[in-house]
Amino acid sequence: MTPSLIWFRNDLRVHDNTALSAAASEGPVVAVFLRSTAQWREHGHGASKLDFWHRGVLALRDALHGLGIPLLHRDIDDFASAPDVLLAVARETGARRLHFNREYPLNEARRDISVTSAFDNAGLTAVGHHDGVAFAPGELLTGKGDFYGIFTPFAKAWHRQLTPERLALRDTPGIQGRPPTDSDPAPEPPRLDRSPAAPGDWPAGEDAAADRLERFLRFRGRHYAGRRDFPAESGTSALSPYLALGMISHRQCMQAVLAENDGGLAEGDAGLTTWVGELIWREFYQHVAVGFPDVCRHRAFQTHTEALPWRDDQAGLQAWQEGRTGYPLVDAAMRQLCATGWMHNRLRMVTAMFLAKHLLIDWRKGEAFFMEHLVDGEFAANNGGWQWAASTGTDAVPYFRIFNPTTQSRRFDPDGRFIANWVPELADLPAKDRHDPSPEQRAARDYPAPVVEHRTARARALEAFKGLTR
Ligand code: FAD
Repeated sequence: MTPSLIWFRNDLRVHDNTALSAAASEGPVVAVFLRSTAQWREHGHGASKLDFWHRGVLALRDALHGLGIPLLHRDIDDFASAPDVLLAVARETGARRLHFNREYPLNEARRDISVTSAFDNAGLTAVGHHDGVAFAPGELLTGKGDFYGIFTPFAKAWHRQLTPERLALRDTPGIQGRPPTDSDPAPEPPRLDRSPAAPGDWPAGEDAAADRLERFLRFRGRHYAGRRDFPAESGTSALSPYLALGMISHRQCMQAVLAENDGGLAEGDAGLTTWVGELIWREFYQHVAVGFPDVCRHRAFQTHTEALPWRDDQAGLQAWQEGRTGYPLVDAAMRQLCATGWMHNRLRMVTAMFLAKHLLIDWRKGEAFFMEHLVDGEFAANNGGWQWAASTGTDAVPYFRIFNPTTQSRRFDPDGRFIANWVPELADLPAKDRHDPSPEQRAARDYPAPVVEHRTARARALEAFKGLTR
C-alpha cells in the first residue's frame, strides 16, 4: 500500500493534529519537514525562534518514531523550492497524497497554493486542512458578509456559532507496524547569527507544552483575570511559543478549560473565561491576515494612518532596543525580551506604544525587532499587537490614549520588583523611586535620563495623529 505524506510546518505535534490524523486514516504515513531557514530569516524570525523550531522538530521526530512514522528532513532555500522538493519526496516514497495544516499569512498561503497545483499537475493530491483555528477564515463574517475588523463582535460570533465538533480532538495515529521507509538522520542545528536567548526556559515538544498547560490551569488559571497584568508574577500561561509552533493546539487548551470549568468557555470562572478570550484574540488576528491581506504587505490596517510623519530617530530606536530609554518599566521589558525571547503582554503594549507614540518611530521597526527576538514570534499576533498599540490597526486603541509609562509602572509593578530584576542598577533604590528615579539617583547609577519627556512626547503624537485626514 502506498503511504500518504504529512508535511509538518508549525504544527509540531502528533496529538490532535488534523492533517496527521487524516493521513493516518488512509494507511501508512511518512512525515516530511522542510527547513527553510533563509526564508524564515527573510520573514524576520531570529535565533531564539529558529532554535526552538529546530528543537521542536527533534522532539517531533522522537514522538513520530514512537508511532513508527519516519520523518524525512529537507533543507530548502526558500518557499519557491517547496513544490519540487515535495514532489521528489512523493516520487521517492511512492506517495500519492500529501496532507498539511494550512498557514494563513500571505506568503505561506501562496506557497501552499503552488504546492497544491504542482501536485495536481503531477496527477497527485495535496490536501490542506484547517487546524489552527476553530473557524476557517471566511467562516465567521459580519452581517454584511465582510471579515470582522473588530474583535468583540468577532468573539461573540465565535461563541454563538461554536459547536462541540469544532473543538473535538483529532485521533492520534496508532503505531505503524512496518515503517514504509527509514527516518533521515536527525538534522544538524540551524546556523544562527547569534545565540538563542535562554533556551533552557523553553524546553521543546508536546510533553513540555502539556505540562505547562496543566500547571497553568491547576495553579494560576482561576487567578488569571486578576493577576495577568502584573509582570513580576507568573500570572499567564507562557504557552505562546508552544501555540506558535503547534506543540500544543488551541483545541487541547479549550478542552482543558472545558474540563476545568464545568463545560463552559463563555461562562463560569472569570479567570478561565478571560483566558479563553485571549485564545480567541489569536484566532481573530489569523482571520485578519486573510481578510485584510494588505497587513501582510507591511501596510497599516487603517490606510489613512500611512500618512503619519514617522520620525527618523536612530538614537531613540537604539535606546529603546537596548533598554536605555530612561523609563525603567520600558527598559526592564526590553531587557526581558532580549534576555529571554519573551515579553509579558502588558509590557508588549507599553513598549510598543512607547516606540510608536512617545518616540513617533514607525511601528514596523518595532514589529521587526520583536520578531527578531521573540521565541513566540507569530506574524498575525505580532502585527495585530503592533498595529493596535500604534493606533493604525483593527480595534486600535484610540490615538489619544497614550499610556504614561511611569503610571503604568506604578500600577502594574507596584513594588518595583520587575524593574529591580531587569534593571539591576536601580534595585537598591526604595521601591517607590524605581519608577522614576531623580536626576541624582540616575547619575549615581549610570542610568540615563528619559529620552523624551512624557508630556512633550504625548503632545507631539497627538498633533501627528490630528493632522491625518481620512
Ligand atoms: P496568555 O495570557 O497565557 O494567553 C494565552 C495565549 O493566547 C497566548 O499564549 C497567545 O497564544 C494567545 N494570546 C494572548 N494574548 C494575545 C493577543 N493579544 N493577541 C494574540 N494572541 C494572544 N503573541 C504571540 O503569540 N506572538 C507574537 O509575536 C506576539 N506579538 C505581540 C506584539 C505586541 C506589540 C503585542 C501587544 C502583543 C503580542 N502578542 C504576541 C500577544 C501577547 O502579548 C502574547 O501572546 C502573550 O503575551 C503570550 O504570553 P502567554 O502565553 O503567557 O499568554
